[in-house]
Amino acid sequence: MQTHRDLPRAFAELGVDVPFLRALAKMKFSEPSEIQRAMIPVALEGRDILGQARTGTGKTAAFAIPALQMVDPAKACQVLCLVPTRELAVQVVAEVRRLAEGTGVNSVPVYGGQKVQTQVHLLGRKPHFVVGTPGRVMDLMGRRVLDVSGVRISILDEVDRMLDIGFRDDIRRILSQLPTPRQTVFVSATIDDEIRRLAKQYMREPAEIDVSRDELTVEEVDQVYCSVERYDKYRLLQAILRTEDPKLTIVFCNTKHAARKLTKKLHADGVDAKEIHGDLVQQRREKVMDHFRKHQIRMLVATDLASRGIDVSAISHIINYDLPVDPQVYVHRIGRTARMGLGGRAISFVTRDEGSQLTQIEKLINKMVAEARYDGFTPSPMPDEPMATAPAGPKSRYDQPVFSGATGKAAAPPPMTAPRKTLGSKFRPARGRRR
Ligand code: ADP
Ligand code: MG
Repeated sequence: MQTHRDLPRAFAELGVDVPFLRALAKMKFSEPSEIQRAMIPVALEGRDILGQARTGTGKTAAFAIPALQMVDPAKACQVLCLVPTRELAVQVVAEVRRLAEGTGVNSVPVYGGQKVQTQVHLLGRKPHFVVGTPGRVMDLMGRRVLDVSGVRISILDEVDRMLDIGFRDDIRRILSQLPTPRQTVFVSATIDDEIRRLAKQYMREPAEIDVSRDELTVEEVDQVYCSVERYDKYRLLQAILRTEDPKLTIVFCNTKHAARKLTKKLHADGVDAKEIHGDLVQQRREKVMDHFRKHQIRMLVATDLASRGIDVSAISHIINYDLPVDPQVYVHRIGRTARMGLGGRAISFVTRDEGSQLTQIEKLINKMVAEARYDGFTPSPMPDEPMATAPAGPKSRYDQPVFSGATGKAAAPPPMTAPRKTLGSKFRPARGRRR
């Protein structure tokens, strides 16, 4: 039996009640993370919150603990949390259930690809906390299976994704049908001015909590890039696998087709990789995620389906086989590693025409990404910028002697200016990158 002494006092000081402290003790959460420390007391006051914190820093518990605590056990569906993917709905509910263990507060996930009948059945049990993807939530609201008239708290996880063009209309439709007054809590690791403006349309004088301090990526991720010709990506990947022998990896591709093709190639070479993308049936998606969570699969080849929110312990490597077009996506992809203080390595493949894309990423994350090279893989020099003969004047990063062939490990980062704290004029984009 637990005594009060074993309960996490630091959470108690934020206003968390004993039943939830017990659950937290069981989860071995002894100290709140920074975003939890900042958000929990404000949320418990009932205020709207727009919260920003880096990937893997506990935003789920930051919005879930206060919401759970404010639930009235006598009433159904008081919290509606919307997330961008089915996998994230499943994961958030799993965390919410652990946080609510022993409290009598129930939660269910609703998402596409699962039988409507199953979900009708689950909702029939009158859960207090519903986590869903927008399409399915709208569908169930339309069928009057999901009654939102009792919703007192609405949450958007990954708010910038939820308010971007793909989901925006669905979100507007759903939120407009929720009763007022209610509390609205939105979180993400990346919230730009445009999203901030849009988000505020749904909020009343929100507390804007940003604990990311202009550093969007986690310090513990060792970020590098590799120059590669498009046709040569697979050979580079092989060199990386040989050199790094990664324990647990997600390889990101930009399309389902590319993910499928790459997985086939890896299989042919005896690498036990599994693909996950939107073309697979839901059952298959869930099985793959489940095996990956249990570390029964060492390599996942994924589309951006897996880039947001997915929390699998001890992912050692993120490989951007295709550089993401949207720099924010980069932040989320590499955020699958180095979660809650652990380390990790992110390696991005950059082809000759993607230099400016990498620069955009560096501007967003306010950091230079160092070049790495791997034993047995030498990228062909660019025709207009020979590597051997450095031109006079400002040097391109491609001219830096960064090859550390002896160890095969990533080369030391090229000399760079002191870490830049703010964007704008202080940010000096990488010069001369012509790839
Ligand atoms: P984010 O949404 O910010 O990316 P998550 O909410 O997915 O991060 O949390 C990342 C991991 O950290 C999860 O496995 C979660 O269970 C764990 N975690 C969250 N808060 C704490 C805490 N206070 N102490 C220990 N682990 C925590
Ligand atoms: Mg999250």
